[in-house]
Amino acid sequence: MIIKNGYVVTMDEELKVIRDGAVVIDEDRIIEVGKTTDVLKKHHDDEVLDAKCMMVLPGFVNTHNHLYQTIMRGLGDDGEGMRPAGYRWDIDLLRGLDKEACYASGIMSMVEMIRSGITCTQDSHYINFHGDSIDGIAESARAAGVRLVLGRGSWDLKGLAPTELTEDIGTAIKESRKVSKRWNDGDMTKVIYEASLLSQVSDELILETKRAAREDGLGWGMHIQGPLASYKDDPRTGDKSLRRYGGRAIEYLHSLDVLGPDSLLIHCTFISNREIPILAQTGTPVAHCPCANAWAGRSIVTPVPSMLDMGVTVGLGTDGAMTNNSLDMLHAMNFAALINKVNYGTTKAMTAERILNMSTIQAARALCLDNQVGSLEKGKKADIVLIDLKAPGIAPAILPVKNLVYSATSTCVDTVIINGKKVMERRELLTLDEEKAVEESEKQAWRLVEGSGHLDLYPDFLNRGNMTYGD
Ligand SMILES: [Zn+2]
Repeated sequence: MIIKNGYVVTMDEELKVIRDGAVVIDEDRIIEVGKTTDVLKKHHDDEVLDAKCMMVLPGFVNTHNHLYQTIMRGLGDDGEGMRPAGYRWDIDLLRGLDKEACYASGIMSMVEMIRSGITCTQDSHYINFHGDSIDGIAESARAAGVRLVLGRGSWDLKGLAPTELTEDIGTAIKESRKVSKRWNDGDMTKVIYEASLLSQVSDELILETKRAAREDGLGWGMHIQGPLASYKDDPRTGDKSLRRYGGRAIEYLHSLDVLGPDSLLIHCTFISNREIPILAQTGTPVAHCPCANAWAGRSIVTPVPSMLDMGVTVGLGTDGAMTNNSLDMLHAMNFAALINKVNYGTTKAMTAERILNMSTIQAARALCLDNQVGSLEKGKKADIVLIDLKAPGIAPAILPVKNLVYSATSTCVDTVIINGKKVMERRELLTLDEEKAVEESEKQAWRLVEGSGHLDLYPDFLNRGNMTYGD
């Protein structure tokens, strides 16, 4: 396939932009990037995509997500639908998340993500009431043809983590390894192990999941959303080492020797300035999900500009539909640009170019995929997005990258190619049936809410009883 006549933004090391550029794809790889006239002298193909008035970009890499959440979108907004105490979400609702529900949720997510130019997503899956629910997630990505970094999460501190979701360390490792054996193919699906959330897992779980990941040659991940031992009944509260680190999560994790380029830290809110150099020195990447942080009403924004200045790898993430609530990458890009300006009190704190970097090559690096995707370069996998520069929201596109970040919406995304295959062309989805995806996700959403046994938590549902699906 040859993509010709495009405004090609390579995101390579020199951040080369080629006006009237072309990209040549052979099977799943890019074999040439250059000026259209030069490329057409050397290459011929039956399949030629004219990208006139289009921006040609590497596919967006979403560094953090929870695909299971899409069928529960909206249920926890504005502090509603939450459990009065303990874990934030309604456990009885989550109990219904079997493989079928997760598949429907995953497929709905894929539709939304492809439409916004996402070609690769991370996923943290830790709702393991049904052992095979994670298979539903993995299968949805395979069906859509979307690249997936699948994190199998676990929690073990009863009382801090919701008891119903905890498991012992042996089970966590065994189940994680099962998932990697089943799904890790080193190509379209890559498995990582996760100790879900720093404040709700033991040091042993952190060490053992990381050890298993090292042994299996896989990545590892963890959410950091607060200082260490932020709950008073955390067993580490009286710990000497904790006092030594003054509750600083990164210093503590560094002391456990679990940091490094293949350890993805999600959020990193509440990070102090003295911890940023540790992230830089150890090469530890951060997944920045500003919409989710703001959604939860946190006044502390991850200090991304300082991290970038010090050389920390930061990838942008949408996070899941229960805390964003959108899986639209362009929405996340726009919000990330604005909130970091607010946080630093200057418009220069975050630029469109930095945001695009964090959505492509840096995001790929955060997921240890930068040797495969994240830029348009010879030898890389063909994950490519075409943006219509004539679309309302981006036109007139004198400065296409600025407009992409500050004003474009997903309706500007025209064509999406993943692993050399078109998954959307001229806004038409090619691997998924959108109508069916919506119908199935609605069906599963209703089933979950009705099955939770307390519709009282969701008053809006009670008012819409005649909208049930099925029979
Ligand atoms: Zn998360």
